[in-house]
Amino acid sequence: MNEIKVTLSEKDIPRQWYNLGADLKGPMHPPLGPDGKPVTPEQMARIFPANLLEQEMTQSRWVDIPEEILEILYRWRPAPLRRARYLEKHLKTPARIYYKDESVSPAGSHKPNTAVPQAWYNKQFGTKRLTTETGAGQWGSALSFACSLIGLECKVFMVRISFDQKPLRRIMMNIWGGTCVASPSQETATGRQVLKETPDTPGSLGIAISEAIEQALEDQSGQTKYSLGSVLNHVMLHQTIIGLEAKKQLTLIGERSPDVVIGCAGGGSNFAGVSFPFVHDKINGAKITIVPVEPTACPTLTRGPFTYDFGDKSGQTPLLAMHTLGHNFVPAPIHAGGLRYHGMSPLVSQAVEEGLLEPRAYDQVASYEAALLWAKTEGAICAPETSHAIAGAVDEAIKAREEGKEKVILFCYSGHGMMDMLGYDRYLRGELTSYSLPEEELEKSLAASLTGLPKV
Ligand SMILES: *Cc1c(COP(=O)(O)O)cnc(C)c1O
Repeated sequence: MNEIKVTLSEKDIPRQWYNLGADLKGPMHPPLGPDGKPVTPEQMARIFPANLLEQEMTQSRWVDIPEEILEILYRWRPAPLRRARYLEKHLKTPARIYYKDESVSPAGSHKPNTAVPQAWYNKQFGTKRLTTETGAGQWGSALSFACSLIGLECKVFMVRISFDQKPLRRIMMNIWGGTCVASPSQETATGRQVLKETPDTPGSLGIAISEAIEQALEDQSGQTKYSLGSVLNHVMLHQTIIGLEAKKQLTLIGERSPDVVIGCAGGGSNFAGVSFPFVHDKINGAKITIVPVEPTACPTLTRGPFTYDFGDKSGQTPLLAMHTLGHNFVPAPIHAGGLRYHGMSPLVSQAVEEGLLEPRAYDQVASYEAALLWAKTEGAICAPETSHAIAGAVDEAIKAREEGKEKVILFCYSGHGMMDMLGYDRYLRGELTSYSLPEEELEKSLAASLTGLPKV
């Protein structure tokens, strides 16, 4: 096995997405409306098109990928599976480390895997304009890219701290015809309220989601819909193409099934993408360690309770059963903007509850160390989010060395870091410190957010 990259041809692309919801033990806890009763499709239809809602609620294990969507995905998919041989050598590990390279998409991350189907289903439905939020800017740029190919307008609310630190992503959105404003903004009631209370807030994904939903609801014609880049079931579904391709690629080179599967987790989508097809195997008896990695500054899975909470700051979304730090949580301004979300995908959360996953947290300094090691061995400069997954893979490879075991490790290389130089610069200047969410801050956020909300 000397291959260090495995490519598939277009004809070998997976033609169905995998829905983990069909295989979890459950019971799954349905999203609840403001009255505490399960939300109806009619309530959700104000912000999402019916065809995507159907996917959101499907019980089917497999969902066909429309040919027209595959045609667009062929621009960069199937994505390469690569082997991190130089990192292996450096670590003197007997482990074989593989990664799915999602940085090859036009927007530079895994996010177009769902941006394209979401834009496509909206177009089919008759939507003219999509609103959304973005953290570090990857989702906003991915959706702008997809909307430009498919012919929709795109409006993006970008978390203030990233808007200031990462102007390049905003420019990418503009190139693809998207409009991008800093959140909180003066354009919505939520934004104005937050600015009044905390004029110098760094913003948060929860606030930006509220603003995007508010604008979608404002359009009485129903032609503006809202789009979410992570968390929801249909997003996890679309991302499973990552793990399904990886499976084919490992088989193609005669590699066995992985012992460890790793992804960084913000809202859970790239992690779900690479891991859910293997969670399926684990449910069916395979022995696999499956690890979502998050920052210690935003430790949703490792320290947040599993309970009902809103997906946004102002409580416009349904209540979702998930691990959460509380919808009022404003994370410290660490550079991994895409991992600064208070909640987590209900499917990922439920899988944690069922003992299928082993979440772990790393602080930003440990993650940048892993990113630098990666750049010096493998050569590529990763996204700050991705560095958390690399840190996890490095630890697993070291563990394999200590145990003297020839393990197979697979992780998702969720994106490149070519737009994130400022964070690297600050790390290299020694300006970044280890940071872990203080317990009293967590308690405060949970009390302020969850009091009076239903429990699972
Ligand atoms: C958005 C993003 C993430 C985090 O989002 P998930 O939904 O958890 O995948 C991770 N890595 C990169 C490169 C991203 O752009």
